[in-house]
Amino acid sequence: IMCAQVVTRFAPSPTGFLHIGGARTALFNWLYAKANSGKMVLRIEDTDRERSTDAAIDAILAGMEWMGLDYDGEAVSQYSRVERHREIVEQLLAEGKAYRCYCTPEELAEMRETARANKLPPRYDGRWRDRDPSEAPAGAKAAIRIKAPLEGKTTINDQVQGTVVIPNKDLDDMIIMRSDGNPTYNLAVVVDDHDMGITHIVRGDDHLTNAARQTLVYQAMDWDVPTMAHIPLIHGPDGAKLSKRHGALGVEAYRDMGYLPEAMRNYLVRLGWSHGDDEFFSTQQMIEWFDLSGIGKAAARFDFKKLENLNGQH
Ligand code: GLU
Repeated sequence: IMCAQVVTRFAPSPTGFLHIGGARTALFNWLYAKANSGKMVLRIEDTDRERSTDAAIDAILAGMEWMGLDYDGEAVSQYSRVERHREIVEQLLAEGKAYRCYCTPEELAEMRETARANKLPPRYDGRWRDRDPSEAPAGAKAAIRIKAPLEGKTTINDQVQGTVVIPNKDLDDMIIMRSDGNPTYNLAVVVDDHDMGITHIVRGDDHLTNAARQTLVYQAMDWDVPTMAHIPLIHGPDGAKLSKRHGALGVEAYRDMGYLPEAMRNYLVRLGWSHGDDEFFSTQQMIEWFDLSGIGKAAARFDFKKLENLNGQH
């Protein structure tokens, strides 16, 4: 049997330093690729032009380099692919799988209000699905929405979370291109993952709902959905969301404090992944032993003291 080569990706948004959580995501993707003689690609998700900075790109690259996490080929800028994203939006429109929505901000606000009053999550009611675009107010610019199935459910077979079922009625017709012509994250990410031949998506479980929305785009395009693994986010030792009071959050801070990249890798690989024992892994052992089935469902806890001990052991 011919098996497709494993291709993973690390897809950071360049809005700040390389965060501990991002570094762990990069490490897991790198290990999984190496463990399967595959590739890991780096995609800089710089479509948010306001928040993306060159300084952040440099910090992410420097952090990865210090961690010893190399990637295959050139780093890809997501923004540089915007024409390709628009082309797919056009295709979905032409195939009747997406439509132009001319709702005003006031109408959308009203929909949100109604949902809130009924204690429901905000949901677009699909009012432009079947409406004739000629009814649009003069000069109005349309956002493009994808048609979500009205019935049934969307299933994600996640390597960490198991089978996740989301009723389609909870996935409203999401915007795939804003009225300013900018494709949205959930559209761009699917087009890029498809075009780059990504076989495995390993990322934080804050993207689980996005995964369901992205699945709808794969289905509309008749593309294969990559294998997904959504890893629980990192919390502090007290169980609260990781924040500055738990210790430095940027990888570069640890580099500057004189930590060893080996210690950092050893510490981060254990945040959410276990191999059963506590010895210091060599990089070779890590690659040999790493697998998605060793990733737990519970939130990992970042403990600065343990990282310090590990650094001392080396
Ligand atoms: N750019 C997204 C983030 O940094 C990640 C997208 C993804 O992995 O699909 O949260």
